[in-house]
Amino acid sequence: MEEKKPSNFIRQIIDADLASGKVDRVRTRFPPEPNGYLHIGHAKSITLNFGIAIDYNGSCNLRFDDTNPAKEDETFIEAIKQDVHWLGYEWDGLYFASDYFERLYGYAVELIEKGLAYVCELNAEQMREYRGTLTEPGKNSPYRDRSVADNLDLFRRMRDGEFADGSRVLRAKIDMASGNMNMRDPVLYRIRSGLVHHQTGDSWCLYPMYDFTHPISDAIEGITHSLCTLEFADHKPLYDWVLDNISIDCHPEQIEFSRLNLEYTVMSKRKLTELVDEGLVSGWDDPRMPTIAGLRRRGFTAASIREFCNRIGVTRQDNSIEMGVLESAIREDLDAAAPRRMAVLDPLKVTLTNYPEGQQETLTAPNHPKDEAMGSRSLPFSRTLYIDRSDFLEVAPNKKFKRLVSGGEVRLRNSYVIRCDEVVKDAQGEIRELICSYDPDTLGKNPEGRKVKGVIHWVSAEFGVPVEIRLYDRLLKTAQAGDNWKEDLNPDSLVVIDHAFVEPSLADCEPGQQFQFEREGYFCRDSGDADRLVFNRVVTLRDSWAKIEQGG
Ligand code: ATP
Ligand code: MG
Repeated sequence: MEEKKPSNFIRQIIDADLASGKVDRVRTRFPPEPNGYLHIGHAKSITLNFGIAIDYNGSCNLRFDDTNPAKEDETFIEAIKQDVHWLGYEWDGLYFASDYFERLYGYAVELIEKGLAYVCELNAEQMREYRGTLTEPGKNSPYRDRSVADNLDLFRRMRDGEFADGSRVLRAKIDMASGNMNMRDPVLYRIRSGLVHHQTGDSWCLYPMYDFTHPISDAIEGITHSLCTLEFADHKPLYDWVLDNISIDCHPEQIEFSRLNLEYTVMSKRKLTELVDEGLVSGWDDPRMPTIAGLRRRGFTAASIREFCNRIGVTRQDNSIEMGVLESAIREDLDAAAPRRMAVLDPLKVTLTNYPEGQQETLTAPNHPKDEAMGSRSLPFSRTLYIDRSDFLEVAPNKKFKRLVSGGEVRLRNSYVIRCDEVVKDAQGEIRELICSYDPDTLGKNPEGRKVKGVIHWVSAEFGVPVEIRLYDRLLKTAQAGDNWKEDLNPDSLVVIDHAFVEPSLADCEPGQQFQFEREGYFCRDSGDADRLVFNRVVTLRDSWAKIEQGG
């Protein structure tokens, strides 16, 4: 896929900062918390941050924002690194906010010494009470005017593990009457004892809050533009306050953009964690999940995800993107790049009475109708075949039906024209087999004296390979996930077909390889079980979402 340089309001700010000399080299970062797998929303932030670094010849760090050890885990760190790489990006520096714990502690001491932070002993409930509301100012904590010496002593003892969780916090001394709730003496540090942090082990029982950690980590790394989602807009005054009041030279500019929301799915790590933990999906990489790992296993390419992120753009408008936008990105990519194959999902046996028993021949079929460079593959042809049940009807329902009917002819894709001579039914009247004949004079040419319009796909019954096919559909029944989103889970989000046949050239394809199964859709060999041939449907051939929207 061809990738064009995007243009958006953030890039315009960067252009201006470079032109004015405010910034000489752009430095960005992507700062995930390692408490879950990355999802397509994170991909928006990744393509934005890494894309800017690439296009402006700057740099982008991967920084794990690891200040909450209770929910974090080493396996998430590894999965996140793998996903960023797979998306096609290389970080300049790999950092952890926990690398800065000692320096952060030092900056907290500096704030205390300047009379700008204090140790508070209000409990959580009192703290809420004192905080006020959006319409009423808060009240000063009774601990607000402790001496610097007392604060320093208490803060050191908090670090030394002398106090219980929740008994004391360090707060910034800003303004309890501020119209911005985040500025009403926000908590900077809290005690979390007895936890083993994946990076720092048990060396700390005192952990810095996000609002204190983030600006300082950005500044330590010399980040020029700190890009985050809109919910942090109200935190920007605090971001700036922290950097204005400590001795650090760098002051990155925080710029907010709107989060990606996708219809018919959930996007927050909390909800995705619930799906995994409650066994509602098979794991973080379940192909129905909007995670990078799930999309990869489903058969999405990294290029299609990057292209999707470019198409949706970067703005400050909150909105929800239609699934069709993501699907058309992968459809276009695979239309150009995926080899064509034939697979019969719902097999109906066809016997060619005039094709001698025991005979076989090898036909050749192009891998791509529009790209000769992709070569061709062999296709064995024999006396018994499978076609899809939906490609046969005893009587054509209308003139548009171009498939096989009793007494009618149809072309087998890449092969001969056949005619249906007889329909074999069982006692229940169910069609069991079609007795047909083939016209040996129709390979690669039109039959004499008549027109055969329909073309259907097929697989040799003798040489076809049995496979499992998994058809995926939207995760939720409703476009917008409400509070009771788990009741909206689509029971048909996965349909397993365990009696499909594919042409033999697919027997030794690699896990992760994508194909177009002609007339059926794009499929990817599943990577979950290396011993079995399982194919995941990546996406249908045409946009099926338009129909859903109309309730069809
Ligand atoms: P979640 O709400 O899913 O847990 P988060 O914001 O807590 O997401 P982080 O790991 O803290 O997850 O996010 C890392 C970066 O990715 C942040 O800069 C965040 O703003 C960005 N990000 C997260 N979700 C989205 C989204 N849906 N769209 C765009 N950017 C996102
Ligand atoms: Mg977060």
